Amino acid sequence: MTERARRMSARELMRDERGRVDIKSLDRDGVRELVVGECGGTEGQALRVYKALWQHGVTSFAVMPDVARSLRERLEERAYIPMLEPDLILRSKDGTTKFLWRLEDGQRVESVLIPDGERLTLCISSQVGCAMACTFCLTGDLGLIRHMKASEIANQPLQVGRQLPEGTRITNIVMMGMGEPLHNLRAVIPALTVCLDDHALNFSHRKITVSTVGLVPKMAELAAALPVNLAVSLNATTEAHRRSIMPITRKHSLDELLDACRSFPLPSGKRITFEYVMFGGENDTLDDAERLLQLLRDIPAKVNLIPYNENPDREIRRPSDATVKAFQHHLVSNGLSCSIRTTRGTDISAACGQLGKARQQAVERGWLEEARRVAGLV
Ligand code: SAH
Repeated sequence: MTERARRMSARELMRDERGRVDIKSLDRDGVRELVVGECGGTEGQALRVYKALWQHGVTSFAVMPDVARSLRERLEERAYIPMLEPDLILRSKDGTTKFLWRLEDGQRVESVLIPDGERLTLCISSQVGCAMACTFCLTGDLGLIRHMKASEIANQPLQVGRQLPEGTRITNIVMMGMGEPLHNLRAVIPALTVCLDDHALNFSHRKITVSTVGLVPKMAELAAALPVNLAVSLNATTEAHRRSIMPITRKHSLDELLDACRSFPLPSGKRITFEYVMFGGENDTLDDAERLLQLLRDIPAKVNLIPYNENPDREIRRPSDATVKAFQHHLVSNGLSCSIRTTRGTDISAACGQLGKARQQAVERGWLEEARRVAGLV
């Protein structure tokens, strides 16, 4: 596909140059409407088309053998099947793999595949760049370039899944890549609906987690639409500190955010995950741990500590392992469940908060050639 010269919106990208609709941004009902309503097909054919897209990963209507040729031709005139173009695939020493995708308009986003024992987690992106401007996050430096379309979001698990060896499956999806998923619910909801649908990608709702900076009004909207897990990036225990590192706090205060968590409709037994990035000398003392404990006292919560991943663009330091362990110990010994996120994929800049500069770094570090070879592109 040709790189389009001007910056485009997700809405404009719903149709290609020939005016055909992006069929993979439609949910199952949308595909039925297209196949039955517009193309005169049957309900059964609509379901076969939908399954061909999401369960067989077909890239052309011509290779849908159990759909009548006349219907395929009508579909071809009205719709197109978008796929992500793999631009770079980088493999870390620790088994983590980063996928850099090129989108229809030439923009780039990343997904990270993280093997961990029995688990194979795919971390996916929801926006090109991000509008939230958290001071410590590299993706924030890009600003919001555009929202991703539903097809671009759901194609990440589809296309990574299809590259895996026979018998291997992605077990978990986390929306912790580039972007703020609750800022793009219009696309995130249909995309995750496809991930959950047993006629499509068929993931269990227990295996999908949406992570947010705390866009309070959108949290209830997400819960009303989908039964997925919620993670909240807390990162601070006082209003002043959170305001200074996460500008969204000026709009929705820490209190307001915690209230929204209290009233978040959790199925029984489920808890909200609170991510807490630890910045050396900034929010890593036992006083901070105690305040965190108090803030979460009456919320079904578990904490995920993320030792800051350092990068040359920031002065911020990662706390020592002993500091992180002591912090964890304080929470756990007071009855709050708390894990430490192992840093993965540092050598390929795939760790939390490092997405968005892959191509630039790859060029600088001479990875491009090698990565293209790994990806079978040259
Ligand atoms: N916008 C969503 C999804 C991004 S998730 C959210 O903020 O939750 C990315 C996670 O990585 C967030 O918890 C964020 O606080 C964290 N993060 C960002 N930069 C980081 C860095 N350099 N080191 C460790 N964690 C980081």
